Amino acid sequence: MVLADLGRKINSALADLTKAPVIDEKVLDAVLKDICGALLMSDVNIMLVGKLRNNVKKAVNVPDLGGGVNKKRIIEKAVMDELYNLVDPGAEPYKPVKRKANIFMMVGLQGAGKTTTCTKLASYYQRKGWKTALVCADTFRAGAFDQLKQNATKAKIPYYGSYTETDPVAIALEGVEKFKADKFDIIIVDTSGRHKQETELFEEMKQISAAVEPDSTIFVMDGTIGQAAEAQAKAFKEAANFGSIIMTKMDGHAKGGGAISAVAATQSPIVFIGTGEHLHDLDRFEPKPFIRKMLGMGDMRDLAETVQDMGLNSNKNLMENIKQGQYSLRDMYEQFQQISKMGPLSKIMGAIPGMPADMLAGSEEEGSKRIKRMMCIMDSMTDMELDSDGTPFQDHRSRIIRVARGSGTSVHEVEEILSQYQRFSSMVKTMGGKNGLMNNLPTDP
Ligand code: GDP
Repeated sequence: MVLADLGRKINSALADLTKAPVIDEKVLDAVLKDICGALLMSDVNIMLVGKLRNNVKKAVNVPDLGGGVNKKRIIEKAVMDELYNLVDPGAEPYKPVKRKANIFMMVGLQGAGKTTTCTKLASYYQRKGWKTALVCADTFRAGAFDQLKQNATKAKIPYYGSYTETDPVAIALEGVEKFKADKFDIIIVDTSGRHKQETELFEEMKQISAAVEPDSTIFVMDGTIGQAAEAQAKAFKEAANFGSIIMTKMDGHAKGGGAISAVAATQSPIVFIGTGEHLHDLDRFEPKPFIRKMLGMGDMRDLAETVQDMGLNSNKNLMENIKQGQYSLRDMYEQFQQISKMGPLSKIMGAIPGMPADMLAGSEEEGSKRIKRMMCIMDSMTDMELDSDGTPFQDHRSRIIRVARGSGTSVHEVEEILSQYQRFSSMVKTMGGKNGLMNNLPTDP
């Protein structure tokens, strides 16, 4: 079961609480059974699922709730808290320090996405203003250096490696020393990733680690490996004592349960997730927003950061409006216009709270078509309507009919856009204002 399905299943189980005339032990058990079943199908470790179930039951204790208390809210909160706990080991990941060379060492199995992730990570920090560099200490895999070189060149990140030197420890050390001398802030060392059975791999990791003394060792793990995640993470934890995890390939068909189990098995936090093959496809991971997003609640920090990272905030008027908590249909139109220019669409749309899953369904191309259709409908609105907050449509259904006719679509589709707009608009109101998120954008990771 992929993450979005898991979120939907949990949501629908929780919705059963609303449907039940009386919430008793039996109803709670049925809800928990559905939630636990969904978690198991997503490859979350059975012990963790059992623990979640017991903790929720303990936290809620239905007979004690008595009448009058909003049982549904209490149960929902207990479930959410336990879901957060699943992905939050309570350990703080390493935060790079200014005016010092921060050394990151990446470890993980071959094919996990290590080399790709090294460049994504370097680029992420570069976009945040850090001076980053890459070192390729993978002398085992033919072509590893070429791959890193290619990625790094594309991302305009300085790199170090060798076609002739066969000692990975020597290369790692030379590279790190060189970039340290050149006053780089973040130096990312890519290591080899042969099969975990090979004791030499672990030995090599230890030697590189002893030589470069990383501030942070990051375990890069394939998010699609399901149940095997736990054992693999444990083996790497013992050998390399990594401090944090990057879970790759969380786009597509990753179930995500493996990731959750890996966190619990190693008590190490996930710091980023890889969401595609491209440079920008790396999202910062934080437990609460992750769970909220999985449950379709969206995450405004993500949106704010995506808007900032992708330069979507280049439209001054729009940003000013948002800051003031104002948002018209035209603002939404202009956002769509920018989004379709900038891509990747799915990343931006995925970060927008309240965006229904069906808007994101299908390929990038289908998503773009959907956005274009929405814009085409809005093209049939008058200036007055576009500059409004949707009120003109509330009292005059004839306007909706006119727009539907004008754009060759249906009344239902126009209504759909208007309700979408209402959701965006209330979100923007929360983001704007003096204490709003848009006025407090995160500057550092
Ligand atoms: P390494 O052997 O661990 O260095 O793995 P690579 O960086 O060579 O990646 C292996 C494959 O996984 C490549 O085809 C990458 O493009 C792909 N890959 C890496 N990260 C992601 C991701 O987050 N999503 C997807 N879909 N593919 C990824």
